[in-house]
Amino acid sequence: MKNEFDKGGDFELTVLGARGSMPVNGKEFAVYGGATSCYRILAAGEEIYLDAGNGIVNAEIEPSTRITILLTHMHLDHIIGLPFFVALSQKKRSVDIYAESRAGLSVNEALDRLISPPFWPLKVGQYPANVTFHGLPEKTFFIGAVQIEMMEGTHPLGSTIYRLTCSGKSLVYATDFEHTPEGCEALADFARGCDLLLYDAQYTEEEYERCRGYGHSTAQVGFEVGIKADAKKILFVHHAPERTDEVLSNMEQKFKTGTDKVAFAKAGEKIFL
Ligand SMILES: [Zn+2]
Ligand SMILES: [Zn+2]
Repeated sequence: MKNEFDKGGDFELTVLGARGSMPVNGKEFAVYGGATSCYRILAAGEEIYLDAGNGIVNAEIEPSTRITILLTHMHLDHIIGLPFFVALSQKKRSVDIYAESRAGLSVNEALDRLISPPFWPLKVGQYPANVTFHGLPEKTFFIGAVQIEMMEGTHPLGSTIYRLTCSGKSLVYATDFEHTPEGCEALADFARGCDLLLYDAQYTEEEYERCRGYGHSTAQVGFEVGIKADAKKILFVHHAPERTDEVLSNMEQKFKTGTDKVAFAKAGEKIFL
Protein backbone atom coordinates (compact mmCIF):
# COMPACT_ATOMS: atom_id res chain seq x y z
CA MET A 1 0.00 0.00 0.00
CA LYS A 2 1.42 3.35 -0.96
CA ASN A 3 0.59 6.64 0.63
CA GLU A 4 0.77 10.33 -0.08
CA PHE A 5 4.40 10.56 1.01
CA ASP A 6 5.57 8.36 -1.88
CA LYS A 7 7.99 9.95 -4.26
CA GLY A 8 10.33 7.07 -4.99
CA GLY A 9 13.87 6.69 -3.70
CA ASP A 10 16.24 4.18 -2.21
CA PHE A 11 15.40 4.72 1.44
CA GLU A 12 12.24 2.77 2.09
CA LEU A 13 10.27 2.29 5.28
CA THR A 14 7.48 -0.26 5.65
CA VAL A 15 5.12 -0.07 8.60
CA LEU A 16 4.78 -3.63 9.89
CA GLY A 17 3.22 -2.70 13.21
CA ALA A 18 2.31 0.63 14.76
CA ARG A 19 0.06 -0.44 17.63
CA GLY A 20 1.16 0.49 21.13
CA SER A 21 1.36 -1.60 24.29
CA MET A 22 -0.37 -4.77 23.08
CA PRO A 23 -1.57 -6.38 19.88
CA VAL A 24 -5.23 -6.03 18.95
CA ASN A 25 -7.29 -7.79 16.35
CA GLY A 26 -10.59 -7.32 14.53
CA LYS A 27 -12.14 -5.56 11.58
CA GLU A 28 -12.23 -2.26 13.44
CA PHE A 29 -8.41 -2.24 13.40
CA ALA A 30 -7.92 -3.38 9.79
CA VAL A 31 -6.57 -0.11 8.38
CA TYR A 32 -4.16 1.19 11.03
CA GLY A 33 -3.34 -2.36 12.10
CA GLY A 34 -3.24 -4.34 15.31
CA ALA A 35 0.37 -5.55 15.38
CA THR A 36 2.83 -3.90 17.76
CA SER A 37 5.89 -1.81 16.89
CA CYS A 38 7.99 -2.90 13.94
CA TYR A 39 9.25 -0.92 10.93
CA ARG A 40 11.39 -2.29 8.13
CA ILE A 41 13.98 -0.06 6.48
CA LEU A 42 15.67 -0.86 3.19
CA ALA A 43 18.58 1.47 2.48
CA ALA A 44 21.89 1.06 0.66
CA GLY A 45 21.47 -2.71 0.50
CA GLU A 46 20.82 -2.99 4.24
CA GLU A 47 17.69 -4.46 5.78
CA ILE A 48 17.10 -2.88 9.17
CA TYR A 49 14.19 -3.46 11.55
CA LEU A 50 13.22 -0.88 14.13
CA ASP A 51 11.83 -2.94 17.03
CA ALA A 52 10.50 -6.48 16.92
CA GLY A 53 6.90 -6.29 18.03
CA ASN A 54 4.57 -8.86 16.52
CA GLY A 55 4.52 -6.81 13.31
CA ILE A 56 7.83 -8.51 12.48
CA VAL A 57 5.93 -11.75 11.91
CA ASN A 58 4.59 -10.21 8.67
CA ALA A 59 8.03 -9.22 7.36
CA GLU A 60 8.86 -10.23 3.81
CA ILE A 61 12.59 -10.60 4.11
CA GLU A 62 15.02 -10.14 1.25
CA PRO A 63 16.67 -13.41 0.21
CA SER A 64 20.29 -12.44 0.61
CA THR A 65 20.69 -9.47 2.90
CA ARG A 66 22.15 -9.47 6.35
CA ILE A 67 19.54 -8.29 8.81
CA THR A 68 19.91 -5.77 11.60
CA ILE A 69 17.40 -5.21 14.38
CA LEU A 70 17.58 -1.99 16.41
CA LEU A 71 15.56 -2.33 19.60
CA THR A 72 14.43 0.80 21.39
CA HIS A 73 13.96 -1.08 24.67
CA MET A 74 12.82 -4.42 26.02
CA HIS A 75 9.16 -3.77 26.78
CA LEU A 76 7.08 -6.72 25.63
CA ASP A 77 5.33 -4.91 22.80
CA HIS A 78 8.73 -4.22 21.18
CA ILE A 79 10.21 -7.74 21.34
CA ILE A 80 7.29 -10.15 21.37
CA GLY A 81 7.57 -10.93 17.64
CA LEU A 82 11.22 -11.91 17.82
CA PRO A 83 10.72 -15.66 18.47
CA PHE A 84 8.52 -15.80 15.35
CA PHE A 85 10.81 -13.82 13.01
CA VAL A 86 11.34 -16.06 10.00
CA ALA A 87 14.96 -14.93 9.49
CA LEU A 88 15.97 -16.52 12.80
CA SER A 89 15.03 -19.93 11.46
CA GLN A 90 17.23 -19.61 8.37
CA LYS A 91 20.66 -21.20 8.45
CA LYS A 92 23.39 -18.99 6.98
CA ARG A 93 21.35 -15.86 7.67
CA SER A 94 23.16 -13.33 9.79
CA VAL A 95 21.09 -11.28 12.20
CA ASP A 96 22.61 -8.51 14.32
CA ILE A 97 20.53 -7.30 17.25
CA TYR A 98 21.37 -3.97 18.90
CA ALA A 99 19.97 -2.53 22.12
CA GLU A 100 21.09 -0.44 25.03
CA SER A 101 21.97 -2.39 28.18
CA ARG A 102 19.39 -1.57 30.80
CA ALA A 103 18.65 -2.79 34.33
CA GLY A 104 22.19 -4.19 34.41
CA LEU A 105 21.47 -6.67 31.61
CA SER A 106 23.15 -6.95 28.22
CA VAL A 107 20.85 -7.35 25.22
CA ASN A 108 21.07 -11.15 25.15
CA GLU A 109 20.73 -11.43 28.94
CA ALA A 110 17.59 -9.29 28.79
CA LEU A 111 16.08 -11.26 25.90
CA ASP A 112 16.97 -14.56 27.59
CA ARG A 113 14.93 -13.54 30.61
CA LEU A 114 11.79 -13.91 28.53
CA ILE A 115 12.68 -15.95 25.46
CA SER A 116 13.99 -19.12 27.09
CA PRO A 117 12.57 -22.15 28.89
CA PRO A 118 10.07 -22.49 30.44
CA PHE A 119 8.46 -19.59 28.54
CA TRP A 120 9.79 -20.62 25.13
CA PRO A 121 11.80 -23.65 23.96
CA LEU A 122 14.77 -21.74 22.53
CA LYS A 123 16.84 -18.71 23.37
CA VAL A 124 17.27 -16.25 20.49
CA GLY A 125 20.95 -17.20 20.24
CA GLN A 126 20.01 -20.87 19.76
CA TYR A 127 18.03 -20.36 16.55
CA PRO A 128 19.57 -21.63 13.29
CA ALA A 129 20.54 -18.13 12.10
CA ASN A 130 23.89 -16.66 13.02
CA VAL A 131 22.73 -14.17 15.65
CA THR A 132 25.07 -11.56 17.14
CA PHE A 133 24.08 -9.31 20.02
CA HIS A 134 25.45 -5.81 20.41
CA GLY A 135 25.17 -3.17 23.08
CA LEU A 136 24.89 0.35 21.69
CA PRO A 137 28.15 2.21 21.21
CA GLU A 138 28.55 5.58 22.91
CA LYS A 139 28.48 7.46 19.65
CA THR A 140 27.38 7.25 16.06
CA PHE A 141 27.98 3.96 14.30
CA PHE A 142 27.38 2.56 10.83
CA ILE A 143 25.56 -0.42 9.39
CA GLY A 144 27.10 -0.50 5.95
CA ALA A 145 26.46 2.98 4.56
CA VAL A 146 23.63 3.73 6.99
CA GLN A 147 24.61 6.03 9.84
CA ILE A 148 22.95 5.36 13.19
CA GLU A 149 22.73 8.00 15.92
CA MET A 150 21.09 7.60 19.29
CA MET A 151 19.43 9.71 21.94
CA GLU A 152 17.99 8.55 25.26
CA GLY A 153 14.25 9.12 25.60
CA THR A 154 12.12 9.62 28.70
CA HIS A 155 10.36 6.34 29.42
CA PRO A 156 10.06 3.91 32.36
CA LEU A 157 13.45 2.06 32.36
CA GLY A 158 14.53 4.15 29.36
CA SER A 159 14.13 3.92 25.61
CA THR A 160 16.48 4.70 22.73
CA ILE A 161 15.55 7.16 20.00
CA TYR A 162 17.30 6.41 16.72
CA ARG A 163 18.25 8.58 13.77
CA LEU A 164 19.12 6.73 10.55
CA THR A 165 20.83 8.61 7.74
CA CYS A 166 21.70 7.37 4.29
CA SER A 167 22.33 9.13 0.96
CA GLY A 168 21.45 12.50 2.52
CA LYS A 169 18.06 11.29 3.78
CA SER A 170 17.22 10.65 7.40
CA LEU A 171 14.49 9.41 9.64
CA VAL A 172 14.07 9.63 13.39
CA TYR A 173 12.22 6.96 15.36
CA ALA A 174 10.96 8.42 18.64
CA THR A 175 8.60 5.92 20.18
CA ASP A 176 7.94 5.26 23.84
CA PHE A 177 8.88 8.85 24.57
CA GLU A 178 7.21 11.00 27.16
CA HIS A 179 7.57 14.70 26.54
CA THR A 180 9.17 17.09 28.98
CA PRO A 181 10.22 20.63 28.03
CA GLU A 182 13.91 19.63 28.03
CA GLY A 183 13.21 16.33 26.28
CA CYS A 184 11.28 18.05 23.48
CA GLU A 185 14.06 20.60 23.07
CA ALA A 186 16.65 17.83 22.85
CA LEU A 187 14.52 15.80 20.44
CA ALA A 188 13.93 18.79 18.18
CA ASP A 189 17.72 19.27 18.00
CA PHE A 190 18.32 15.57 17.43
CA ALA A 191 15.67 15.41 14.68
CA ARG A 192 16.73 18.69 13.05
CA GLY A 193 15.93 18.70 9.33
CA CYS A 194 14.99 15.01 9.16
CA ASP A 195 12.85 13.78 6.28
CA LEU A 196 10.59 11.72 8.51
CA LEU A 197 9.89 11.81 12.25
CA LEU A 198 8.07 8.82 13.74
CA TYR A 199 6.59 10.03 17.01
CA ASP A 200 4.80 8.35 19.92
CA ALA A 201 1.22 9.61 19.83
CA GLN A 202 -0.38 7.05 22.12
CA TYR A 203 -2.51 9.53 24.03
CA THR A 204 -4.91 12.30 23.31
CA GLU A 205 -4.24 15.48 25.29
CA GLU A 206 -7.08 14.54 27.67
CA GLU A 207 -5.80 11.02 28.24
CA TYR A 208 -2.31 12.29 28.86
CA GLU A 209 -3.49 14.19 31.91
CA ARG A 210 -4.51 10.85 33.45
CA CYS A 211 -1.45 8.99 32.21
CA ARG A 212 1.51 11.17 33.14
CA GLY A 213 4.59 9.13 33.91
CA TYR A 214 3.53 6.16 31.76
CA GLY A 215 6.14 7.10 29.16
CA HIS A 216 4.11 8.19 26.15
CA SER A 217 3.17 11.37 24.38
CA THR A 218 0.52 12.99 22.19
CA ALA A 219 0.13 13.89 18.54
CA GLN A 220 -0.18 17.57 19.45
CA VAL A 221 3.23 17.58 21.13
CA GLY A 222 4.71 15.50 18.31
CA PHE A 223 3.46 18.02 15.79
CA GLU A 224 5.06 20.88 17.73
CA VAL A 225 8.36 19.00 18.05
CA GLY A 226 8.29 18.11 14.35
CA ILE A 227 7.68 21.73 13.35
CA LYS A 228 10.42 22.93 15.65
CA ALA A 229 12.80 20.33 14.21
CA ASP A 230 11.78 21.32 10.69
CA ALA A 231 10.98 17.67 9.96
CA LYS A 232 9.58 17.27 6.46
CA LYS A 233 6.98 14.69 7.51
CA ILE A 234 5.66 13.47 10.85
CA LEU A 235 4.23 9.98 11.24
CA PHE A 236 2.37 9.27 14.46
CA VAL A 237 2.93 5.80 15.88
CA HIS A 238 2.25 3.61 18.94
CA HIS A 239 -1.52 3.90 18.62
CA ALA A 240 -3.41 3.16 21.83
CA PRO A 241 -4.82 -0.39 21.81
CA GLU A 242 -8.44 0.78 22.04
CA ARG A 243 -8.16 3.33 19.20
CA THR A 244 -10.27 2.02 16.28
CA ASP A 245 -9.77 2.85 12.61
CA GLU A 246 -12.72 5.20 12.77
CA VAL A 247 -11.32 7.15 15.71
CA LEU A 248 -7.77 7.25 14.28
CA SER A 249 -9.10 8.36 10.92
CA ASN A 250 -11.05 11.19 12.58
CA MET A 251 -7.97 12.27 14.53
CA GLU A 252 -5.92 12.16 11.36
CA GLN A 253 -8.41 14.24 9.39
CA LYS A 254 -8.49 16.90 12.11
CA PHE A 255 -4.71 17.08 12.07
CA LYS A 256 -4.53 17.25 8.33
CA THR A 257 -6.58 20.39 8.25
CA GLY A 258 -4.06 23.05 7.42
CA THR A 259 -1.00 20.82 6.94
CA ASP A 260 0.13 17.98 4.71
CA LYS A 261 3.04 17.17 7.04
CA VAL A 262 1.35 14.59 9.24
CA ALA A 263 -0.20 11.15 9.09
CA PHE A 264 -0.97 8.30 11.46
CA ALA A 265 0.93 5.13 10.58
CA LYS A 266 -1.07 2.45 8.78
CA ALA A 267 -0.13 -1.21 8.71
CA GLY A 268 1.50 -2.22 5.46
CA GLU A 269 2.16 1.27 4.11
CA LYS A 270 5.50 2.05 2.50
CA ILE A 271 7.16 5.43 2.72
CA PHE A 272 10.01 6.36 0.39
CA LEU A 273 12.35 9.11 1.54
ZN1 LIG B 1 5.72 0.40 23.56
ZN1 LIG C 1 7.81 0.94 26.45
